[in-house]
Amino acid sequence: MEDELLLMLPGPVPLPERVRSAMARQAINHRGAEFGNAYADIVRVLKDLFGTKNNPLVISGSGTSGMEAAVSNFGKGRKIAHLINGKFGERMYTIGQRYASEALPVVSDWGTPLNLEALKSALEGGCEVVTMVHNETSAGILNPGEEVGKICRKYDALFIMDGVTSIGGDNVQADKWGVDVAVVGSQKCLAAPAGLAAVSVSGRAWERAVNNPPYYLDLMAYKKNAAKDPMETPYTPAVPLFLALREACLIIEEEGIEKRILRHHKMAKAVRSAVGAWGLDMFPKIDAFHQYSNTVTAVCIPPNSNDKDFRGTVKNFSIQIAGGQDHLKDKIFRIGHMGAVSAPELLATLAATEFAIRKTGHKVTDSGVMAAAEVLG
Ligand SMILES: *Cc1c(COP(=O)(O)O)cnc(C)c1O
Repeated sequence: MEDELLLMLPGPVPLPERVRSAMARQAINHRGAEFGNAYADIVRVLKDLFGTKNNPLVISGSGTSGMEAAVSNFGKGRKIAHLINGKFGERMYTIGQRYASEALPVVSDWGTPLNLEALKSALEGGCEVVTMVHNETSAGILNPGEEVGKICRKYDALFIMDGVTSIGGDNVQADKWGVDVAVVGSQKCLAAPAGLAAVSVSGRAWERAVNNPPYYLDLMAYKKNAAKDPMETPYTPAVPLFLALREACLIIEEEGIEKRILRHHKMAKAVRSAVGAWGLDMFPKIDAFHQYSNTVTAVCIPPNSNDKDFRGTVKNFSIQIAGGQDHLKDKIFRIGHMGAVSAPELLATLAATEFAIRKTGHKVTDSGVMAAAEVLG
């Protein structure tokens, strides 16, 4: 559409028409059946996406509010080990510094494998809580939820996992992996508007909830209100966003979770084929436990180019891709392929990106668009 950018970002993502329409309606009482039913629909779908039997709690705040809720309700006054290999891992650590008795960073370079041996030492040193970002959006790397879950159980630590850009787009099995607290944000793989977070909490974590959580983000208050019939939130929620998220969840249910994950995997594979054909390097360094992200692909920018010109060229086609954050600015570009998008959006994005790559003078011998089409077709 004219004057409308196609957002191929790791959030926010394009919103299906049904999701947008759900927001454009008369106000409703948030302590009534209509709201309660919407909340119940959201929870029914989200719990399958999280891979948990526990009911996720929905907070009126962006993904970071969910991260802060997780750390403050289960890590306040405790020793926390923070696995870090990108910007959102660093954010978890920054939050930890506000709440923990001691926040211990377990650092790897951005986009490189987490240091699981250092994590074990931290746990031997008495850390009671661990944070990990499952899909590290800043670097396009998928971290090992199952493996870290096993380590946490072995040392009887609580495991907080940021699943903001994996839940709803990639396979997450919170219960099976031993994830105690998992977090998702609305504007990423769920293809809902920005402004909501959902947090699931294991029984084990509830038993260890701190007794002095923050007021607005007191998850026990969310739990008590969600247990009412009709379901409620403790304070007035962002009702239009709940209605939009409900519609996004119904769309997910109609597609089917397995099909949705396969679609994301296929898109990721197509982008990686294009990257290979272009002769560019993937940014993350992976190993047996770490994989390339299936929801956002981080690629080293062609030599002799810069972020502004490169993404500017792509934007001339009304398509927006992401650059690198912090020290990765001018070093990488990132293509988001999460939410409701599929082959049409992806092929257009790869064509615009290929044009931008050729324009930098980088010699491309094979067409990335054709390589991706082979995967998608
Ligand atoms: C986007 C994102 C968040 C949350 O960011 P908000 O801007 O607060 O929604 C958290 N973690 C990861 C991995 C993300 O990609």
